[in-house]
Amino acid sequence: MLNLLLKNADLTKNNSNTDQKRIRQQSFIVEYLYRNGPTSNPELAKLTNMSSPTINKLLVELMGMNLVLELGFGDSIGGRRPNLYGINPNAKYIISIDIDCRMIKMGVFNLQNEAVSDVVTYFDNVKNKSKVFDEIFNRLDTMLRELSLSLDQYLGVGISLPGLIEAKTGETFSDLKIDEQSLESFFMQRYKLPTFIGNDSRVMALGEQVFGAAKNKENVLCINICDGIGMGMIVNGKIYEGKSGYAGELGHINVVEDGLLCTCGKKGCLETVASGTALIEHAQKGILEGKQSVLVEMVANNLDDIHVSTIIDAVHNGDAFAIELISQAGYYLGKGIAGLIHIFNPEAIIIGGKVASAKHFLLDSIQQSLNKYTIYRLKQDTEIIASELGGKVKLLGAVAMVMNRLFEQEKEFLA
Ligand SMILES: [Zn+2]
Repeated sequence: MLNLLLKNADLTKNNSNTDQKRIRQQSFIVEYLYRNGPTSNPELAKLTNMSSPTINKLLVELMGMNLVLELGFGDSIGGRRPNLYGINPNAKYIISIDIDCRMIKMGVFNLQNEAVSDVVTYFDNVKNKSKVFDEIFNRLDTMLRELSLSLDQYLGVGISLPGLIEAKTGETFSDLKIDEQSLESFFMQRYKLPTFIGNDSRVMALGEQVFGAAKNKENVLCINICDGIGMGMIVNGKIYEGKSGYAGELGHINVVEDGLLCTCGKKGCLETVASGTALIEHAQKGILEGKQSVLVEMVANNLDDIHVSTIIDAVHNGDAFAIELISQAGYYLGKGIAGLIHIFNPEAIIIGGKVASAKHFLLDSIQQSLNKYTIYRLKQDTEIIASELGGKVKLLGAVAMVMNRLFEQEKEFLA
C-alpha cells in the first residue's frame, strides 16, 4: 500500500527509470527538509552530490506540488546570502492518538509537528472496550469536521497503545479488539488512511528520541511509569523491539522477595511497588491504617477518588505521607534501574509517565537507591532525567512513528 508524500507524482511501478530516479531525489529532499528544517540549495547540492541547477529544478517541482516553500534568505557564509527552502508545514497532516489505561488524548499535527487542532484529553476506562471506541470515533470525527480538511490531506494515523503489540503486523494482545478485528484494520476501514500502532513505551522512546531528552543520544532507556511500568530502549540509535516487539516489560522484574501478588501471577514485581496503580493502593491502605495525610481532605474522604495526580499534588504540597510513598517507589525503581545500568551501560535513563511528574522527589530517591545498588563507575556514565515532554510525548512519538513508517515504505517502493 502506498501513501506517499509524493502521491501527486502519480507513481506506478511502470514509471521509467528516469522518473523513478527523479522521484527518489525528490523524496530525499522532502525527508531531509522534514527532519532538518530550512536548508539552502548549495547545502542540498553538497549532501546529494548533485549540481545546483539539478537541485533547483527538483525544488521548483516540489514547490509546484506545494510540498516545499521558499523561506527567504539564510546567513551568508561569504558572498550572496543563500535562499532557504523548507517543508510546507501545512501540506499534509497526521492524526495522533494516545490511548492510556484511563486517559485518551488525540490531536492533528502538521509537518512541523505542531498541533493544528486542540488536543482533546478525556478520561475513560479502556477496559470497557466497545464504548471506548465509539467515544474515540465520535470525538475524532468532530475534530476532523471542525478542521474541515479533505481526507487526502491526511498522511496517516498513529496510535500509542498499552499492552503487547506485534511489531510487524500491528496485532494487539491487549483487550483492545473490536469483534476480533485488529484495531489497525478497523481504523484503516473507517478513515481509509494508513494506520500504525505502537506499544506506548516504545512510542514514548521515539518521542524522546526525535523531540526530547534522547535527541542525539545513542543508548537511552525510557521508563514509562503509568498504571504499569514499561520501557522503551534506544540501542545504538535504534528503537529496540526484541524478537516480536515485546521487549521492555520492566514492570515484571522481581524487586521484592516474596512480595505482593502481581497481575501477572508472580510475586514482588516492580509494578507491585512502584507503578501508579501500586501508589494508589498503598495510599489507600496507609490511610485506612491511620496515616495522616492531606490526601484525605483532597478527596473529601472518598478514597476511591485518589488518583496518581492527587498523590503528586500532595507531594508538591509537602505532604509527608505522599512523599514517603514516592520515595519508596523511587527506591524500588532504583533497584530495578541498577540492573539495567549494569547490563546496558546507557548514557541516559529518561523517567516519563504520570508518576514522573513528582520530579526531584522521585529522582532523588532513585539516585539514592542507585548509590546503593550500582557499581560507581557505571553509575557515573548514566544521567537520570525526568521527561521534559510530559503529557505530549506519546502524541509526538506517534506522529514520528507515522512519518518514519511512511518514509520507509516510500524507500522500499522506490528501491
Ligand atoms: Zn508481574
